[in-house]
Amino acid sequence: MSSHVSVAIIGAGAAGIGFGATLKSYGFQDFVILEKGEIGDSFLNWNPETRLISPSFTTNGFGFPDLNAIIPDTSPAYSEGNEHLFGKEYAHYLTQIAKKAALPIKTHTEVEMIRLLANESYELTLANDTSLSADYIFVAIGDYPYPYTPNIPGAAYGIHYANLKDYDQLSAKGPQLIIGGNEAAFDVAIHLAKRKIPSVLFANESAANSNNPDPSKRLSTYTAAGYQKYRSYIRLNDNKTILAINKTDHEYRLLFRDGTLTKTNKRPIFATGFACYQSPLVANLFINYGDRPLLKDNDESTISPNVFLLGPQVQHGNVLLCYIYKYRQRFAPLAEVILQRVGIEINPEISRKYQRNGMYLKDYSACDVNC
Ligand SMILES: Cc1cc2nc3c(=O)[nH]c(=O)nc-3n(C[C@H](O)[C@H](O)[C@H](O)COP(=O)(O)OP(=O)(O)OC[C@H]3O[C@@H](n4cnc5c(N)ncnc54)[C@H](O)[C@@H]3O)c2cc1C
Repeated sequence: MSSHVSVAIIGAGAAGIGFGATLKSYGFQDFVILEKGEIGDSFLNWNPETRLISPSFTTNGFGFPDLNAIIPDTSPAYSEGNEHLFGKEYAHYLTQIAKKAALPIKTHTEVEMIRLLANESYELTLANDTSLSADYIFVAIGDYPYPYTPNIPGAAYGIHYANLKDYDQLSAKGPQLIIGGNEAAFDVAIHLAKRKIPSVLFANESAANSNNPDPSKRLSTYTAAGYQKYRSYIRLNDNKTILAINKTDHEYRLLFRDGTLTKTNKRPIFATGFACYQSPLVANLFINYGDRPLLKDNDESTISPNVFLLGPQVQHGNVLLCYIYKYRQRFAPLAEVILQRVGIEINPEISRKYQRNGMYLKDYSACDVNC
């Protein structure tokens, strides 16, 4: 065993960096952030044309921080000068925070496996053949590294949204078929429409038809405006569940549950989301219920003591923390859980700072769409 830390945070994305900076603001130092790539790796891997859908604005001085800020007193709008940031810009914002807070981060350090030791700490096996032990684990691996494609015959004929790095490489001949009807499906369709390429979307249900006030469930205003602008290029078919894709010499055939068949000569695109349970870490440390890890009220695993989940996959009942402005509210309460467990006194001034900034969600029962 090479070394020991009190807290290991896995992943240096928005959740891992935000939580690390929060721990430090409480004066807690005994932790490390382990990242398999670079800081903000998922954002660096976005299609270069993709932007954050939630707007950034320098509202900090008026009691509510920029929607995409991960800690108080910072604003991606201010530091990057953009309202809807590109992935690279957001990764730059995260890197600046990591530098300013002097966060202990090991990049290019993938955590391959975690196991509970007899002394109730955890051993983390790293891809570089070393290991580390920690008393508390925060899994902040996001879901972008784990694209989800439905388990249907012929799924391999399609291409997942996360693997589309250059829209100019998609053929302009005929419409592009897209499986999905939420943010990612419209993101592709809008970028193709800008190139005058039509798209047909097939979804069992679409956020575009939802009146739910929660932006996790209805199409964001940013995407809805793009859909409106390019409506003549985008056709949405809902109540369509894909069952299989067959390939002949010259075409792909998509079969749907309602018995219909649609043909195309282009590889269909899966905009069918992401699922972190495909990571062996999540599969081993949590019970997965549906497509989400099952959690106690404090976001701790129900089967692995002292292992917590951070980020957009956290869900309690109907409360989905899938946006930055939602899950950042858990950083301070969870930092306090750690301080309590290791026996360090909590400075109430620090807690009040997070409360004043709307970054302090302790009780999910108080949480409606505004949490
Ligand atoms: C196209 C798109 C647009 C989006 N727009 C918005 C938006 O406008 N607003 C918003 O709030 N949210 C948006 N989201 C969601 C947003 O991406 C997530 O909120 C955010 O990335 C989650 O942060 P995270 O830190 O949990 O995960 P990530 O940012 O994915 O970070 C996880 C990190 O963990 C690392 N990692 C994974 N496995 C391991 C391992 N085994 N060992 C070590 N490191 C590992 C990864 O390399 C990665 O750097 C969008 C998502 C997409 C795909």
